[in-house]
Amino acid sequence: MAYSTEFLILGGGVIGCAAARELAKSGHKVLILERGEPCREASWAAAGALIARALSPDEGPLLDFKVRSLALFREHSRELTEETGIDTGFRETGGIDFFLSEEEIEQVPEFLEWQARAGIPAEPLSESELRAREPQLNPEIRHGVFFPTFTQVRTPWYTRALLASALHHGAGLETHIEAREFLMEGDRVAGVRTDRGEVFAETTLLCAGPWSTELARLLGRQLPGVPVKGQIILLVDRARPVNHIVHYGKTYITPRDEGRMVVGSTEEWVAFQRGNTAEGIETLLHQSRFFYPGLGRASVEHVWHGFRPLTVDGLPYIGAFDHLPGLLVATGHYRSGIILAPLTARVVTELLESRPLSFDIAAFSPERVAGMKEVELGERRDLH
Ligand SMILES: Cc1cc2nc3c(=O)[nH]c(=O)nc-3n(C[C@H](O)[C@H](O)[C@H](O)COP(=O)(O)OP(=O)(O)OC[C@H]3O[C@@H](n4cnc5c(N)ncnc54)[C@H](O)[C@@H]3O)c2cc1C
Repeated sequence: MAYSTEFLILGGGVIGCAAARELAKSGHKVLILERGEPCREASWAAAGALIARALSPDEGPLLDFKVRSLALFREHSRELTEETGIDTGFRETGGIDFFLSEEEIEQVPEFLEWQARAGIPAEPLSESELRAREPQLNPEIRHGVFFPTFTQVRTPWYTRALLASALHHGAGLETHIEAREFLMEGDRVAGVRTDRGEVFAETTLLCAGPWSTELARLLGRQLPGVPVKGQIILLVDRARPVNHIVHYGKTYITPRDEGRMVVGSTEEWVAFQRGNTAEGIETLLHQSRFFYPGLGRASVEHVWHGFRPLTVDGLPYIGAFDHLPGLLVATGHYRSGIILAPLTARVVTELLESRPLSFDIAAFSPERVAGMKEVELGERRDLH
């Protein structure tokens, strides 16, 4: 295969498909190259919770990026369904964070202030309000904060719609083809050599999730990061004991239609070790049954896992490297790649078309890590 395109999208996850759609909509010639099936890695595994909350007084640009991308979702999802006839599973469920210990409860006013400062609607719930919203919640849990803007998509449906829309707008897709090295013309990236031949492109967009680190290394560039494995369980109980996207610590439950509940998710630093483990599943079941004791009666419909792309500072890498024309990077969205897909796609397209950006991505530049020594990313419990 020898092929030539304007924009080559390396990696058909949610970020690649969203960027392909936006570029194809703008009339560009786009090709997605995917090593397996599109959106079958983290972009399939994700719970699809679209949530943005402040967890500290000064969160920096990532929170703002999430808030702005979340605000696009209703219209984005409506457009996708209109174009493709596919329900994305967009549901305006609302969310509740629980506060358990005395110390956590004392911090609620401060927590609410952080949300107000970030422009995120949040309301404290009295015990009776919490009970009215979540009647089957463990009675020991008496404090909650309600987030009316938290929504969700059903990731396999959403990504199917995204890809169908990209193809509908003229994007090409090649699956089961692996990029092995970059083609250079002088100092310019001119495409990739794959296991099935060469693909030339005016611009290559690197969005291969946690595999981007290795691919950048082929160019002698740094995108330090690690895969952080997450396991998830899908429970079903027709009585659907959970009404909102509820959250405590690293555990959340996202209620779907028809009594389905997605319970997520572990955070494991085990490189690309595939599969679900007894320990991972036990942790999720234990925590979710503590919140909703009735969940013990639910059936386990499915378990799965995925690898989140975590960067050295928790911020994504979006933009170009200095002195490396022909290549743009969009990866490292860690726990938030689904919520961030629409705005990432928009700014990438604006960047490639040399238009003013809808969001200042200076803080996400891959150049911020240039010259950094190979880093060992330990378990970063401060990143979310
Ligand atoms: C358990 C779990 C729960 C999550 N929940 C949420 C959530 O509720 N909300 C949210 O916003 N985010 C969530 N996330 C995060 C989100 O899933 C990720 O941030 C997002 O999917 C990353 O998308 P991506 O396109 O960058 O990467 P990926 O989905 O990993 O896609 C990268 C693609 O590149 C391909 N590829 C790699 N190397 C090559 C190569 N050499 N040649 C060709 N193709 C290649 C891979 O096959 C893959 O398909 C969750 C993640 C996990 C694991």
